[in-house]
Amino acid sequence: MKKGKLIYEGKAKKVYATDNPDLLIQEFKDDATAFDATKRGTIGDKGVCNNKISNQLFELLETKGIATHFVKLLSEREMLIKRLEIIPVEVTVRNIVAGGMAKLLGLAEGRILKIPVLEYHYKNDTLHDPLINDYHILALELAEEEELKAIAQYSFQVNQILLNFFDQCNLKLVDFKLEFGRHKGKILLGDEISPDTCRLWDKTTDKKLDKDRFRRDLGEVEAAYQEVLRRVCQKKA
Ligand code: 5GP
Repeated sequence: MKKGKLIYEGKAKKVYATDNPDLLIQEFKDDATAFDATKRGTIGDKGVCNNKISNQLFELLETKGIATHFVKLLSEREMLIKRLEIIPVEVTVRNIVAGGMAKLLGLAEGRILKIPVLEYHYKNDTLHDPLINDYHILALELAEEEELKAIAQYSFQVNQILLNFFDQCNLKLVDFKLEFGRHKGKILLGDEISPDTCRLWDKTTDKKLDKDRFRRDLGEVEAAYQEVLRRVCQKKA
């Protein structure tokens, strides 16, 4: 697969064209940002870890019937993906109170939620990805009703699959963010699934093994990403 021109550069990834207009190459960088890019840094080999972790998780989800943009792993930092028309909505699923939900509702982190909470955020850095609901999405024509139904259904299914998988890695899946897009009339799961986009706590000690170590200056950031990769690969083997 020939790597073509750079068509998009985000905070953590670069996307390149290929000789097939339906396929793109997603390259994972070590750059890390937080709080709408007001905090910046690099995390050594984060790109390698996130590419490999996402690869394992997309493969797992595909085997369970979730359609994703993942095609195949190309190299340590690159994966081949299907081209998506991205829906500008970030979908968050929460199992335990943390981060944005703790702040929004004045709750302590760590409370186990009675049922998973699904949230939509409008993907817009200038506005700080504001919380929106189904009505905003339909009224602003960000997605069709059928698409939104599929997105919600997929998100809860992904949660069940990942909860089970991470549990076997001795990790609590606290919350995570998903992005979806359209490809040939179908809704596919896109982006990445990694310690950048999930909160993962050690099941025994509650130690944070995700991007919160960078966001909150907790130290041992690289080690946390490596540890998640180790557990994910070990579980798969
Ligand atoms: P919160 O809303 O609590 O900040 O984030 C909830 C979950 O979604 C966390 O696992 C967090 O890592 C992920 N998340 C939400 N928004 C973003 C984002 O813009 N970028 C990344 N990498 N993750 C996000």
